[in-house]
Amino acid sequence: MTEKLQELKTRVSAVTDLRMANAVLNWDQSTYMPAGGAVARGRQMATLSKLAHEQFTDDRVGELLTDLAAEQGLSAEDAVLVSVLQKDFDKALKVPASFLAEFSSHVAASYQAWTEARAANDFATMQPILEKNLDMSRQYAEYLGYDSQGHIADPLIDASDEGMTVAEVRPVFAALRKELVPLVKAVAEQEQIDDSCILKFFPHDKQLAFGSRVAKDFGYDFERGRLDLTYHPFCTTFSVNDVRITSRINDNDFGDCLFSILHETGHGMYEQGVSQSLEGTPLADGTSSGVHESQSRLWENIVGRSHGCWQHYYPILQESFPEEFGKVELDTFYKAINKVQPGLIRVDADELTYNLHVILRFELECQLLEGSLEIKDLPEVWHSRYESDLGVRAPSDVDGVLQDVHWYAGTIGGAFQGYTLGNILSAQFYDAAVAANPSIPTDITKGEFQTLHTWLKDNIYQHGRTLTASEVTKQASGQDLNIDPYMSYLRGKYGALYSL
Ligand code: ZN
Repeated sequence: MTEKLQELKTRVSAVTDLRMANAVLNWDQSTYMPAGGAVARGRQMATLSKLAHEQFTDDRVGELLTDLAAEQGLSAEDAVLVSVLQKDFDKALKVPASFLAEFSSHVAASYQAWTEARAANDFATMQPILEKNLDMSRQYAEYLGYDSQGHIADPLIDASDEGMTVAEVRPVFAALRKELVPLVKAVAEQEQIDDSCILKFFPHDKQLAFGSRVAKDFGYDFERGRLDLTYHPFCTTFSVNDVRITSRINDNDFGDCLFSILHETGHGMYEQGVSQSLEGTPLADGTSSGVHESQSRLWENIVGRSHGCWQHYYPILQESFPEEFGKVELDTFYKAINKVQPGLIRVDADELTYNLHVILRFELECQLLEGSLEIKDLPEVWHSRYESDLGVRAPSDVDGVLQDVHWYAGTIGGAFQGYTLGNILSAQFYDAAVAANPSIPTDITKGEFQTLHTWLKDNIYQHGRTLTASEVTKQASGQDLNIDPYMSYLRGKYGALYSL
């Protein structure tokens, strides 16, 4: 048994190395690679992906998994490793390699066409490409398979939020939308916040230095990570001991760089906090996109946009930016970073309206997959949903259905639910941390984040993928996923900000 286990671990460790090497190439492509490297880089990454897939789906891996599953004497950790690998193995075998190759070349072409169509505000060109993507997404879902009582989107959702189904997500999102739409309307009727204090010129280097300082204070370990600049901020992992984050800088909007850094810091701290004993295995990873996003949102919003946090940082910020903030009151700044403004663009949305952007995309994905909505009708349905949910209508498709990359560079289905599941969970986890350590809110006003960070590490981060999303949610918060903590957080915060 020990020999078989060792052989399995050696094989899986090599696959993990190939995947991590691919992640390094991807990180380099998004940060420092000169444009001339694009063609070779695409080829190199495809080669590594193919090798990783071939090695992981080798017959011998299947034999070892079958033999080890029947063994009685495995340690608890090894038993979890075998069962998670078995699930990954089954999924990897369900989709034929020829289909995966065809799909990846389709989405590469689609992504290229999208960058041009977006610049030209040209949905018509994208329509047939998106129709093909929808057909292939359906095919993908069929290969993965789903319950006869289930929904065709289920396997695509499961790919990033394992265990979640349309039947579970739909009622949660419907309940959230029912609460949010009137709350956003009530806010819109109040006097609007003046956020001009954060919308002026802020020197590039000083923005980056301040954001890095807060990331370090929160607990992001720069000895096992680094921060670089990119166009679309992201976090990537090569090892538990090398987790990189990226951000971007907008010279004329103070919030853009800082909150991108704090968001990615949350993702990065999760990955850095995975137990060292899982290093080099596929278990050293976040357990689902929803739980991952709960950590980015918790640090970005619940902590980073809180009044308590700025009681500590505002005097420091004023010292760093005496000309820009010297004469601005803390409360003026706090209101500016929390201004609610229903808008057209998801990635620019405030905390209160953000989920409405996500929920409508999730519903449209489900309708497209089930065939109750056609691609040709998508732009108009998009506009009318924005009018009913957010009270705004885009002048063109650039600010409508062409804005997000997801459907043009991956499957239609499973792409969006994680964002809102993460927001819901962020409040649930924060409440549980405070229930266990009532000093956390006061600690934050003193710039002490360790109590919160340690609780998150002990209850969420260290487990990696050894617990599923629903297991870690239940174990850490004592409850299944539910919107109550999140709604009471939003009501409390925005009720006070807008005197509702
Ligand atoms: Zn994120």
